[in-house]
Formats: sequence, C-alpha cells, structure tokens
Amino acid sequence: MKIFNSQIELNQTLKHLRSYKSIGFVPTMGALHTGHISLVQRAKEENDLVVVSIFVNPTQFDNQDDLTNYPSTIEEDEAALREIGADFLYLPSVEDIYPNGLDSKHNYSFNGLDQRLEGKMRPGHFDGVVKVVSTFLKIVLPDSIYMGQKDYQQYLMIDALVNQMPELDTAVVMCPIAREENGLAMSSRNKHLSVEEKREAKIIFESLEFVKKHLHQDTFVGLREGAIKLLSSSNFIQEIEYFELLDSNTLEVLKDGDSKENVVACVAVQSNKVRLIDNMLLFS
Ligand code: AMP
Repeated sequence: MKIFNSQIELNQTLKHLRSYKSIGFVPTMGALHTGHISLVQRAKEENDLVVVSIFVNPTQFDNQDDLTNYPSTIEEDEAALREIGADFLYLPSVEDIYPNGLDSKHNYSFNGLDQRLEGKMRPGHFDGVVKVVSTFLKIVLPDSIYMGQKDYQQYLMIDALVNQMPELDTAVVMCPIAREENGLAMSSRNKHLSVEEKREAKIIFESLEFVKKHLHQDTFVGLREGAIKLLSSSNFIQEIEYFELLDSNTLEVLKDGDSKENVVACVAVQSNKVRLIDNMLLFS
C-alpha cells in the first residue's frame, strides 16, 4: 500500500492509472473498525484499485471538544488497510486540503436536505462535509465512492453532490451498517464507551427494531412516541436529539396517511460521553 500526504502526488499517480484501471474510493476519518473495512472490501470487489483517505476534517465539527477528542489509531489503521489490500492511502495534512485556511464555503445546493436532522443539530456540519468530499472527488476522480448507510443523510448529500459535479462520472454506492452482536452500530466514537455502556447502548437499535416491527400496526405519531418512550426508559441516554420517521429520499417528516413504502427511521442520542446516531430503512 502506497501512502500519499500530498494531493499533487496522488493526483499524478492516479492520472496515469485511471486510463486503464477502475478506481474505488473510501473516505474516512480513521479509527477504523469493521464497518469501514466492509466499505474497503466492497470497493476492492468492484474495482481494480482502491484509494482510502483518512482525514479528520476540522470544518465538519461544530463542537471543538468532539474534534479534539476524536480517536486516532493511525498505526492500526494502516495495518488493517494493508491486510485488506487497499492500494493507496491518502493521509493529507490540514494545509494540503485547505491551502488558503479553513473554509467551508461552496456553491452546491441541496434543496433543504442539508438543513434537516444532522444539519439542524450540527450547524455547518454538512458544509464541511461537502467541502472536503468535493475536494477529494476532484483529486481522486473515482469510478465509485463508497459511503456507509450508518450516515444515511450524508450518503444522500454525497449522492446529490455528485449529481452537481459534471466533471465526475462517479457512482455513489451505499453499504450496509456494520453492527456489534447486540445491534449497536459500529462507530469510531464507540471507543469512548465502556463494555457496560456498549451493552446499554443496544437500546438505540431496539428502538429502530420496534418501529420496524410495528410499522403496519400503528400511526407514524404512535410509532415515534413508542420509540421515544423506549429510549427514555434507558439510564444510558441523557438526551434524545431526534427520533424521526422520514421519507427515505427527501428526509421529509412523514405524516399519518403518508405511504409506508419508503420509510427511514433516524435517531440521534447523547449519552453522558458520546453522541450516537443510527437509522434503519423500514422497507428493506
Ligand atoms: P467516518 O470515519 O465516521 O467518517 O466514516 C467513514 C465512512 O464509513 C462513512 O461512509 C460512514 O458512513 C462509514 N461507516 C461508519 N460506520 C459504519 C458502520 N457501522 N457500518 C458501515 N459503514 C460505516
């Protein structure tokens, strides 16, 4: 696996290879777990070359403590990527991505998608995501980019972003959520949880299973109330930021009487240590 710290070098290497090899790209913030590795595995299966980036993007953090405390396990990450057979690892510095200083201004538009859920709870978050992913995409020009369903809204945003970048011919591939045995969605932030806390955090998955199970027996309002009641019964959860049943294409809140064909349930909670998000497509 070849490691690049500079976008110019990565771009030059890929320029030649791109004419006869397909390129799969997996952007990450590191502290890799089985979920990330499943994206790399899928990218390997579907492409000749796999590029992985590890970059903790400062402009997408609305909370300085979250940025400062974001876990970093770079040596283990490199070893895991070598083992799975990633070809190129792009490990840029902040200056390499933001040569003119930290700035998340961009000219893309998202028709309100960026204002919902995570966009509402974390102001500026998606501007940072769009800025960094559009920069990566211009450097790598991949045939496919691999995104986890874990960050479902982010997947929809990147899909909408790619549609606004005519210089690209890139497929946006959504990969399933990798979970712990008890259902807890894998996340780099889980590294901050004790064994006991991870056990208790399964209530998040249970709230999603609850609405999936009862989808056709209750109204959207009733389902949401039931899930919130379940989450509220847990000592692990300090605050429920949102639990919503949404149209899986637009993320608009569903009202009673709306179709139950394309429903995604999205949840964000705060425990006393970390903020956790999860979701479930209820028709799959
Ligand atoms: P992150 O390092 O958190 O920015 O995540 C990098 C990519 O891995 C994103 O596309 C995430 O959606 C994806 N990802 C994170 N956790 C999981 C998971 N548990 N299962 C599948 N994909 C994941």
